[in-house]
Amino acid sequence: MGNKWVIAIHGGAENQSCEELGETKQAAYEQGLENALMAGWHVLKEGGSALDAVEAAVRSMENNPLFNAGKGGSPTSENTNEFDAAIMDGKTMKAGSVAGVKHVKNPITLAKTIMQESKHVMLCGPGAEEFARQHKLELKSDAYFLTEEKEKALKEAQKEEATTGHDTVGAIAMDMHGNLAAATSTGGLVNQLPGRVGDSPIVGSGVYANNEVCAVSCTGDGEGIMLANTAHEVYALLKYKGLPLKEACQEALHLYTDRIEGDRNFIALDTQGNVEFSFVTSLMFRACKRADEPTYIGIWRDDAGDWEKEG
Ligand code: ASP
Repeated sequence: MGNKWVIAIHGGAENQSCEELGETKQAAYEQGLENALMAGWHVLKEGGSALDAVEAAVRSMENNPLFNAGKGGSPTSENTNEFDAAIMDGKTMKAGSVAGVKHVKNPITLAKTIMQESKHVMLCGPGAEEFARQHKLELKSDAYFLTEEKEKALKEAQKEEATTGHDTVGAIAMDMHGNLAAATSTGGLVNQLPGRVGDSPIVGSGVYANNEVCAVSCTGDGEGIMLANTAHEVYALLKYKGLPLKEACQEALHLYTDRIEGDRNFIALDTQGNVEFSFVTSLMFRACKRADEPTYIGIWRDDAGDWEKEG
């Protein structure tokens, strides 16, 4: 099991062309992905748990204004911030989840603290913030989360009467002991109604991990991912249909697309350490590193890595 330890992350999936993204922004995303990947990888390298590794990777992206989580979280239609996050430990099958918090710097750490320090799986709104305060997690004022770029994105979305943005972040990992974990964190969609909760904090929809089968983290249109139960569907196809990871992911990606709208995208990891990046969009911000093998960072569909051929 020792050489299979691996971490994979995503920073969301979108429909953008190379020109729209631009070289400068592409380079910034690549750097942000590398920083997050390495934050998690170092935890694993030092013999740490998959759970701590996915938390570290997601925290890094929550602190980076480029990504739609924490600092860079999408604004609601009222130009306020509401964050959702969840983490699941495949070893214990415990999970922690948080929805609709406004001032927590690292919602993924709040989710983990809920998992470890409360009797509950999910807390939301003011109760979740109070729990964060009691556990001395870092809180930030509204101003910390506001950026010019986000205000611009909100104005554009409002002009089109649309909800936009798919840069939710996530991580999946297998540690040296073969334990799996998954984490997902988001600011939701630009111009979403205040109070809206997407798939990210819903165990089985936006996140799932079970040592026996797989770890999954999703990004895309939360309503569709929730209705399709995407993360758990990958699990079910592996467990009950016995499909190889690549085929299970393909099937989960396209399941009920005749009835359920919206983009579903996700990253998945099986017990053999195979990793799949499954997306229907033109790009997925993604990265992966297995043990001491070279680091893979990809954005466009054809940025293939060797392990993607293994699944
Ligand atoms: N899935 C997230 C949500 O619906 C959005 C995203 O992936 O960016 O809240």
